[in-house]
Amino acid sequence: MNNRNYDLRQSIYEPTQIMVMRHVNKTYHTSVGKFPALKNINISIESGKLVSVLGKSGSGKSTLINLMAGIDHPSSGEVIINGSDIHKMSEGKIAVWRGKNLGIVFQFFQLLPTLSVLDNTMLPMDFCGTYRKTEREEIARNLLRTLEIEDLSESFPNSISAGHQQCAAIARALANDPPIILADEPTGNLDSKTGEMVINIFKKLVSSGKTIIMVTHDRKLANQAQRILLLRDGILINESLTNAFLELNEIILAKMDSKSETFEVNAGKSMFFSAKERSWFWILTRGAMTLSIEEKNIVTDALKTKLSAGDIIVNSDHVYKFTATEDCQILSIPLPEIISLSNIEIMQVEQVISRNLNTSGVNYATELA
Ligand code: ADP
Ligand code: MG
Repeated sequence: MNNRNYDLRQSIYEPTQIMVMRHVNKTYHTSVGKFPALKNINISIESGKLVSVLGKSGSGKSTLINLMAGIDHPSSGEVIINGSDIHKMSEGKIAVWRGKNLGIVFQFFQLLPTLSVLDNTMLPMDFCGTYRKTEREEIARNLLRTLEIEDLSESFPNSISAGHQQCAAIARALANDPPIILADEPTGNLDSKTGEMVINIFKKLVSSGKTIIMVTHDRKLANQAQRILLLRDGILINESLTNAFLELNEIILAKMDSKSETFEVNAGKSMFFSAKERSWFWILTRGAMTLSIEEKNIVTDALKTKLSAGDIIVNSDHVYKFTATEDCQILSIPLPEIISLSNIEIMQVEQVISRNLNTSGVNYATELA
């Protein structure tokens, strides 16, 4: 009974979430001891999005993708994809489920060298028994046409360019028309122009309704996605922080993230913040609110400002009154000395903040200066 209620609640709260990870940890057991590769990862991805997973080498990107693909298992936590808790399935069931639900694209293409491009593309159809045998070739040819490599159908992988091999691998990933494509460094072995072409293919697929999760360590490519999941040492940096400060390096972001705190404010409720807070600034991460300033217990409406998700509010000597106009979530970033930023790092953060305040057209920045 309890389980049933729980499921119902999930379906109400996450109607279009095609990929959900809850409290996922992955620890590798090595000869020199335990190594935590992913720490308490929580992710929720809506369908129809292009999401990039960004991070330095060794930050846990491939581990994350492998858990999403059911290639590897989490040490704890849940991975729910398209409504299925994949790590509760048997290996045999996962393989067939994966064939229908996921297309996987790798850095080194992983095409079978002894099969033609066309036969490589048809392989997942044969494996999962999707479509009638007589239809498979036509469907595969259509995919190759979409990817503009139909004339290479009869070629073998080794005889075509790296970019064309990746197109063939993408066609193969699409063979069973899966809702989700997972790609681990799909452009890692391509020159930048071909890499750009792959991203453009992904963008088209996303606009036709696919969900694509793409690992890269190239910030420029990552930036073209609708969402960026930034990993550092197995920790997922708060996404609002990543969004607001993407131009800063991961060390600064990780320091800001490590001691930041999230809190919720329900619609209609107000909260007061003052200089006594040990907060440097806040980011409104979800919802909308108004901000006014209280002077000597009088709330002045002069500065009444509407804030929406992504806006940054810098702490000052004023007493702030936040009033949530819808359910809100706020991220509080502690003072620079608490998170041990150097003077240069503080300056870099302040530069980004002032740019964000100016470009968002919010007028309180100058008022507070
Ligand atoms: P990325 O893809 O971001 O480069 P990985 O997910 O491959 O990072 O690896 C994350 C960390 O986990 C690395 O430090 C790596 O050495 C370690 N790791 C990955 N796979 C294993 C494994 N099978 N056994 C032990 N350690 C591993
Ligand atoms: Mg990797």
